[in-house]
Amino acid sequence: MTKALRVAIFGAGPAGIYAGNILAHSYENVTIDLFDSLPAPYGLIRYGVAPDHPRIKGIVNSLHEMLDAGNIRFFGNVEFGRDLTLDDVKRHYHAVIFATGAIKDAKLNIPGVELEGSYGAADFVSWYDGHPDYPRTWPLEAEQVAVLGNGNVALDVARVLAKQADDMLTTDIPANVYEGLKTSPVTDVHVFGRRGPADIKFTPIELRELGEVKDVEIVLYPEDFPEGWFNEDAQGVTNQHRVMARVMQSWLEREAEPAKRRLHLHFWHQPKEIVGENGHVTGMVFDRKGEERKYPLQAIYRAIGYWGSALPEVPYDETKGVIRNVGGRVVDESGKSLNGVFATGWIKRGPVGLIGHTKSDAMETIENLVADVSNFEDPAEPELEQVLAGLRAKGVQFTDWAGWLKLNEHELALGDGFTGPVERERVKVVDRDEQVSIARASGI
Ligand SMILES: Cc1cc2nc3c(=O)[nH]c(=O)nc-3n(C[C@H](O)[C@H](O)[C@H](O)COP(=O)(O)OP(=O)(O)OC[C@H]3O[C@@H](n4cnc5c(N)ncnc54)[C@H](O)[C@@H]3O)c2cc1C
Repeated sequence: MTKALRVAIFGAGPAGIYAGNILAHSYENVTIDLFDSLPAPYGLIRYGVAPDHPRIKGIVNSLHEMLDAGNIRFFGNVEFGRDLTLDDVKRHYHAVIFATGAIKDAKLNIPGVELEGSYGAADFVSWYDGHPDYPRTWPLEAEQVAVLGNGNVALDVARVLAKQADDMLTTDIPANVYEGLKTSPVTDVHVFGRRGPADIKFTPIELRELGEVKDVEIVLYPEDFPEGWFNEDAQGVTNQHRVMARVMQSWLEREAEPAKRRLHLHFWHQPKEIVGENGHVTGMVFDRKGEERKYPLQAIYRAIGYWGSALPEVPYDETKGVIRNVGGRVVDESGKSLNGVFATGWIKRGPVGLIGHTKSDAMETIENLVADVSNFEDPAEPELEQVLAGLRAKGVQFTDWAGWLKLNEHELALGDGFTGPVERERVKVVDRDEQVSIARASGI
């Protein structure tokens, strides 16, 4: 008989769920408790992936099955560092895995970044995806908008800004987001990348999708596409690059149809300064290959990357925004590993990569965790009831799996009950207290 093992995981995004599932299948005598600071599971799939990407959002179906299998116990509305500390965790569990991801914007250090109208893309994403901890309203007053960055998040933000609100109504966006988007007077969305069109970090599906947005004209600038701009045989060129080069080439060659909104792709634009008047953004200055370019703009979205946050008492590398670790084993500054403490997903590796990558991440972390089992110390209070009693004593209104199933049904019913021009599968509940009270309706 293998040693009975109790493991806590913080973060019920894809990384935490994959880690739990892999652990449940690689160690026979294990009890896994999965905590998230939000009342609902699924992390950035619920609060990051764009609402008009239902295929990606659909990954929750397979994660749902993993949580529904019964070998992982989910508890929402429980925050590591506030509701449970590292000492609590050690008292109740042999090991802990941090899968707390990243929700904040990386910093951009240029003059004017603090002006009103200069926004982090992550904040905007949290608004349109209905994250409970972000403001319910968003100032959509600008006609000319910039999105800085050449990754998929920049494309998500640009697409959501450029799309007609009615075309978002089939998605799960909350009612307040639809109302907000509907008021937007935007006419031009400018996406600025620092490098050339051959070096974009988009993926082909996301790029191609831009060209299919209703009533939006894609504008490219011939100066960015000189003869021979794409060298098929250059080092590092992948099939993805080839497909994207073809997509852009076809846009360059096609006859543009006038549309209500335009989405411009600019390349070789290095951000220099955001300029403003009376504390509000009025434009932005770039360096384009040694030449200064200025654009009139009323809003700027900085989509230059996400950044992981430190957790209390857990070693953190502030140069990378990750928990210090080697292969998922958390280490202190001297490189010594902390017995029974692990990390996985974006907080382990940094905020890059797709949902699928968190699975291979989790495999590595779990392999190392299982290899270390004989070193783990036995917890003094190993019963789940002892953990929950501690949470109740602190007044934590935690939710559980049955509660999430209720909230899930409630959101689906809101979708069913929607009367309007389109069918809606789901309407998200945003407010944290409302989510908690629906989830806890018949007690825990
Ligand atoms: C805007 C955006 C769009 C994206 N679109 C796609 C896409 O289309 N396709 C794709 O494959 N990938 C996409 N990704 C990437 C994908 O979301 C990530 O690869 C993945 O979510 C990372 O998983 P994770 O579990 O490490 O982190 P997260 O998904 O961030 O999950 C972390 C979880 O930890 C919880 N948590 C944080 N702090 C605490 C704490 N102190 N205590 C308890 N819980 C805590 C959070 O609430 C969250 O639920 C996108 C990412 C972003 C930002």
